[in-house]
Amino acid sequence: MKNRTLLMIPGPIEFEPAVLSAMGEPTTSHLAPTFIEAFGESLQMLRQVFESPSGQPLVLAGSGTLAMDCVGANLVEPGDKALVINTGYFSERFATILQRYGAQVRLVSAPAGGRPDLGQIKSALESDPYKLMTITHVDTSTAVLTNVQEIAKLGRLYGVLVVVDGVCSVAGEELQMDNWGVDLTLTASQKAIGVPPGLALLMIGPRALEVFQKRTTPVLNYYADWTNWLPIMGAYEARKPSYFGTPPVNLIFALNISLGQILKEGMPKRYARHIAISRACQAGIQALGLDQVPLKPKYAAHTLTAPRYPKGVNGTEFLAGVLKAGVTLAGGLLPSIRTEYFRIGHMGAATLADVLVTISAIESALAGCGYKFTHNAGVEAARAEVKKSP
Ligand code: PMP
Repeated sequence: MKNRTLLMIPGPIEFEPAVLSAMGEPTTSHLAPTFIEAFGESLQMLRQVFESPSGQPLVLAGSGTLAMDCVGANLVEPGDKALVINTGYFSERFATILQRYGAQVRLVSAPAGGRPDLGQIKSALESDPYKLMTITHVDTSTAVLTNVQEIAKLGRLYGVLVVVDGVCSVAGEELQMDNWGVDLTLTASQKAIGVPPGLALLMIGPRALEVFQKRTTPVLNYYADWTNWLPIMGAYEARKPSYFGTPPVNLIFALNISLGQILKEGMPKRYARHIAISRACQAGIQALGLDQVPLKPKYAAHTLTAPRYPKGVNGTEFLAGVLKAGVTLAGGLLPSIRTEYFRIGHMGAATLADVLVTISAIESALAGCGYKFTHNAGVEAARAEVKKSP
């Protein structure tokens, strides 16, 4: 394909050919038996991908931000207290959304690249009766992976609803929603779920559903109101025609293909593959002498890597050099350090070979920026890591 570069940003990602083919099929009616079957089956598969047998799946036309908006619209009532575990730009977005629906929000923060420690979170939980807590599993602005299991356990102890923004983690990072006591997980289609942008996906656990059902004030967002959508999801799962708003038919056919592929790979294998790919990427980056935004190795996500530019390297020049070498990467996003780092996405269909090509492109761009390093050191280190992977 002419003019095509390897897309290695943290979403949208490269998609599997079968998923893209489904997007290009003639659009059916949203009431066609084939579509009803594909939607119903997708809802059932989502429970397996989110590892939430008890969850209520919800698929809406929209992006990840709509899924976050749904949390604010449906679970917050004016005056509710919410705790936001802040690991970057997207955690702060969640705080803004919850405030918009009338929540009193407290953020527990850490320096850029860090994550709040459990002691800080515990004392916040002790200080006030919070209705819900949000955790950004992987904040795409910092590549910080949050310890969801431990924080969710604490949240449960204090009786708060545990909400996870899994936009950059679901189907890439291990997340056992039910076993870990998470009450709601949300994501979007364009990352490790492996479907072009356009779907907001939520898995609502029983406690979150109960809180929603006990609301005493109306939901102040017509489109996002779960009252409108829950019967629709129920109908599709029961293989019955139903309508509230026209579903994005082709995206849902594509979702059906991608979820089938994800489950065929199997969740444990998929998580392990993401770990192997991220290790190769990080080994390459480290061998070139570049630091990373996450302050400790155990904070680093497996779905993307956020290397810091070495001294003297200009980001704009560097990213243009990478593109010239055939790879698209993303710049920084967290305002306080935006010009100091770049981001490499490696989720879903990304392969170890893609990582080798990416590291090679990074080397060529660094050389073009006048940075001194041992030629091929990054590629060799990544390759050595690849050999170790199963
Ligand atoms: N949360 C996280 C962690 C994200 O990475 C993103 C998107 N990069 C969002 C929320 C918002 O998703 P969207 O861009 O699909 O609205």
